[in-house]
Amino acid sequence: MMRLPSYVQKALDKLESGGYEAYVVGGAVRDYLLNKEPNDYDVSTNARPDEVREVFASYRVFDTGIKHGTVSVMIERKMLEITTYRSEEDYEDFRHPKKVTFVRDLDTDLKRRDFTINALAYNRKIIDRVGGIADLKSKIIRAIGDPEERFTEDPLRILRALRFAAELGFTIEPSTAAAVLAHAGLITKVSAERINIELNKLLAAPAAAAITGAYFPVIRVFIPEYRALDPAPHLAALKRLEGFHLRLAAFFLPLGASAPAVMRRLKYSRAAVKKTGFLVDNFSLELSGEEERLVSLLLRYDYRDLIDLIDLRAAYSPRAEDAAAREGLMRLYRERECFRLKDLKIGGRDLLAIGFKEGVGVRLALERILSEVALGKLPNRREALLKRAGEIKKEG
Ligand code: ATP
Ligand code: MG
Repeated sequence: MMRLPSYVQKALDKLESGGYEAYVVGGAVRDYLLNKEPNDYDVSTNARPDEVREVFASYRVFDTGIKHGTVSVMIERKMLEITTYRSEEDYEDFRHPKKVTFVRDLDTDLKRRDFTINALAYNRKIIDRVGGIADLKSKIIRAIGDPEERFTEDPLRILRALRFAAELGFTIEPSTAAAVLAHAGLITKVSAERINIELNKLLAAPAAAAITGAYFPVIRVFIPEYRALDPAPHLAALKRLEGFHLRLAAFFLPLGASAPAVMRRLKYSRAAVKKTGFLVDNFSLELSGEEERLVSLLLRYDYRDLIDLIDLRAAYSPRAEDAAAREGLMRLYRERECFRLKDLKIGGRDLLAIGFKEGVGVRLALERILSEVALGKLPNRREALLKRAGEIKKEG
C-alpha cells in the first residue's frame, strides 16, 4: 500500500467523486517501489482539462500546460499537476507534438510514456501494463514498445535513458541501448533547454561517470567540441566530486577556452558559466601556503571560487601545496574578514575630508590600506585607518 501525501490523496478522491478515474503515475510510483523519496507527484485522469477545472472549482487552478492537458491545482498549499490521459502524439520537427489527443483510457496513456519503469500507475493498487515492476526488480531501463520508434519520436528520451540509468544505477537493456547509440544524432533536433535539464540530472547522478563514459558518443552529438578529446580523466575526477558545480566544471574543463560558449549555447545561467569559466581559466593557478600569496589571492578572487578550485584540482590529483593553501585560505578568510574596499571601516569620503584630492589617488590609497589590513599589518578600525591615510597623504 503506497502512502500518499494527503493533498495527493485528496486530488484522487475529488476526481473520483466527480465521476472520473485518477491515478498517481510516473516517477512517484517508481520511486515508491525503490524505497526512494519521490521528487514530486503527478496525477493522470480521464477528465478533460475543463472537467478538471470544474472538479476543482473552489481551488486555485493554473493552466500551466493546458495545451498538453496539464493543469496545476493548489491543494493544501501544495501545487499538484493533473494531466489528462493522452495518446502517443505525432511529433513534428522532434520538438513540439503536432497535436495532443486526449483519450479516456489509462492504458493508452501509460504506453505513450518513455520507459517501462516510468509507466506505473497507482490508485489503491499498482497498475503495471508494460512490465515495469519486473524491470525495476532487474534494474533495467527499457523503452516501451519499439525503442527505435520511441527515440525517433522524441530524441530527448535518448538522454533520459542515460539519466535514469545513472540516477538509479540501472543498466540499459540491449536493444534500447543499441537504439540509444544508433539514434544519438537526432539529439541535435532537441531544444537546448530540454537538453540542459536532462544533462544536469545526468551529471548530478550517482553513476554519472560510468554512464557518461559508456555512452560518450551521445554527448559528442550535442557537444561536438569534444571531438577527439578523451573524457576519461575528467569523468574520473567527476566521480570523486560531490558538488554539482564542481562536477559541471570537470565535465566542461576539457573544452578549455570554448567552455563558456558551449555552456551558453546549452542555456546555462550566467552564474554557472562564470563559475565554470573561473575554474577552467585558473585550473593551473600557482598555489602555496605562503601568507602573502594567499592574501593577494583573496584580494583578487572570490574566496568560494578559490576553495572550489582547490577541491576541483584535488579530484584530479591531490597536492600537498594545495592542501596547505586551502587551510591557509580558510584561516585567513576567517581571521581577517576584510578583503574588499566595502569592508574597510573608512571610505573615499573620509580621505577627501582629511585633504585628499578627488581622483585616482583616493582609490590607490584605499587599496593600499586594504592590502595592509588583509595582511594583518593594520587593524580594521577607523582611527587606525585614518591615521594611516594621513601618513600616506604626507608621502604624497
Ligand atoms: P523525476 O523523479 O526526475 O521527476 P520522473 O519520472 O517523474 O522523474 P519527469 O521528467 O518528471 O520524470 O516525467 C514524469 C513522467 O512523464 C515520466 O515518469 C514519464 O512517464 C513521462 N515522461 C516524461 N518525459 C517524457 C518523454 N520525453 N517521453 C515520454 N514520456 C515522458
Ligand atoms: Mg517528476
